[in-house]
Amino acid sequence: MRPELSILVRLQGIDLEIRKFNKEKAELPERLHALQERLSARQAELEGLKERLSDVMVRKSEVEDELELETERMKKSQQKMTSVKNNREYQALLKEIEEIKKSNKTREDEILELEEEANSLKEQIAQKSKEIEADTKETKAEERHLAKAQANLDTKIAELTRERDEVADKVQPELLAKYRFLSDHRAGVVVAAVSDAICSACNMNIPPQMYNELLRDEKILTCPSCQRLIYALKVEK
Ligand SMILES: [Zn+2]
Repeated sequence: MRPELSILVRLQGIDLEIRKFNKEKAELPERLHALQERLSARQAELEGLKERLSDVMVRKSEVEDELELETERMKKSQQKMTSVKNNREYQALLKEIEEIKKSNKTREDEILELEEEANSLKEQIAQKSKEIEADTKETKAEERHLAKAQANLDTKIAELTRERDEVADKVQPELLAKYRFLSDHRAGVVVAAVSDAICSACNMNIPPQMYNELLRDEKILTCPSCQRLIYALKVEK
């Protein structure tokens, strides 16, 4: 392998590592985002439960008021019954009292149902609040973990970047420009080994004449298919 190419292989190794760490860094907040989403979904659920409970309590108090008023009205009608003048009036009062009793029974049933629903909602609210408390703890812990992991990766990336710059200084500017162009267009893999006339990066054949030239190792050649810088891999048998 040409010496300038072996420097590029080193440079590529460092660049690929930097790429890997940058990718890791970009993926790091994914878990935190998932936790944050779960937390806000549960908070929205809690708000929904609280609103429902408030509606139930308002309705219960309305029905209780109605029940109280209607019970009063019934008592008055019952009192009137002691002083009725004729049978028609008596029948009318009796009918009124029966109707009030009937609708008050419906009101009492509704109050019981609303109480049951309120109790169930309170239990759900307590449960949801516990989940939110646990979620909040987990999210905060993940935030701390993330900050540490990011700082750790930043350190590694900074070290590698220094090393990369040192290595890059040893490469001719023209070759370095070619390397950078290929690196951007070939996902960081610029230098490829060729064995048995096949480019290891794109798996295409190198024409025989070019392969012979490559084996002589006199200058840097590029793969005719993927344009990567190639070298002959000589397997020792
Ligand atoms: Zn190729």
